[in-house]
Amino acid sequence: MIAEKMKPLVANNSAIRTMFEEGGRMKAIYGEENVYDFSLGNPNVPTPPEVKQAILDILEEEEPLRIHGYMNNAGFPETRKAIADSLNRRFGTAFGTNNIIMTVGAASGLNVALKTILNPGDEVITFAPYFLEYNAYVNNFDGVLIAVPADTETFQPNLTALEERICAKTRAVIINTPHNPTGVIYTEETLKALAEILEKKQQEYGAPIFLISDEPYRELAYDGAEVPWVTKYYANTIVGYSYSKSLSLPGERIGYLVIPDEMEDSENVIEAATIANRIIGSVNAPSLIQLVVERCIDTKCDVSYYERNRNTLYEGLTKLGFTCVKPQGAFYLWLKSPEEDEAAFCAKAKEYHILAVPGTSFACPGYVRLAYCVSWETIQRSLPAFARLAADYHLN
Ligand code: PLP
Repeated sequence: MIAEKMKPLVANNSAIRTMFEEGGRMKAIYGEENVYDFSLGNPNVPTPPEVKQAILDILEEEEPLRIHGYMNNAGFPETRKAIADSLNRRFGTAFGTNNIIMTVGAASGLNVALKTILNPGDEVITFAPYFLEYNAYVNNFDGVLIAVPADTETFQPNLTALEERICAKTRAVIINTPHNPTGVIYTEETLKALAEILEKKQQEYGAPIFLISDEPYRELAYDGAEVPWVTKYYANTIVGYSYSKSLSLPGERIGYLVIPDEMEDSENVIEAATIANRIIGSVNAPSLIQLVVERCIDTKCDVSYYERNRNTLYEGLTKLGFTCVKPQGAFYLWLKSPEEDEAAFCAKAKEYHILAVPGTSFACPGYVRLAYCVSWETIQRSLPAFARLAADYHLN
């Protein structure tokens, strides 16, 4: 009955659903507080109070037809201008209203970007480990996703392997910084080297190669770390942003794309992306929440909450002898499985009521992801369970 393309997605979906249901089942048996569920990347820092206030003010102050009406498919010009101004203040750029297209979160933004640039059979390269939804997004537009193996020393993109894989079919490269699942922030040095390779390769093949920077975790950076602004290094860049994590608004589905004027044929790309936003079925990003982000332009959730979680979990686990990448951003901890088969390690962890996602779900076996967007108390309570797990593997 269903489309061939959908069949593997349905099969895979039931595996994910089984994992969620298992978490629910365990919580029902052992009690919510005795299950340490690190499986889901659902923000748990409260939405800032400014968001609620903005919603109330907008409903009081604005015309209902403006709040709830259709608009330009790229979004409210005032919202886009406020975002452009804010980026310019922060990154020394010179964006205007036209460079910003409001989208239905980062997921939709990526789909809009790919719809805008991909021809059937085009290749899109990304770096393992990666957010597996990229496969489906690229496949939506008959592209082919190519994964570059991880540099397991640094989890920065493996640029040597990238260069080997770029060919005449390469249309785009997707990066994600701060990174899900490793928590790594790509350095300026990495981005400059990446830009150099892409410049060289687009010359060689005489066709543009787009860099798509997926940045839903941009504001979640710790120890004062800077997240470099990618359009500064490479002109053919599309940045995808989302408020899902920075304002704890994942259900509201709001984000934007940045398409710089420096991009080759930028006016056409911007127009095509605006049309793509409409015809993938979004029409425009949700109107009320666009007005909210305009009013909350300098607001973000309490990032120190995640930072405290990161510190407690990272320090706790390394003391127990686990090998982890120290997260610089996002809210994930990437842990090396003490046995080669990380699915077996996840099964063992589950015996101690710890739920983790195997690295295979990010195309990088041998590792597991712990999402620490949980309460700090959950992390504290989980440490004795991790200690028993470490003892099983004779880690210290
Ligand atoms: N990209 C990455 C790397 C993500 O981790 C997520 C969500 O977890 C998304 C995109 C989608 O975010 P949004 O909720 O804004 O669609």
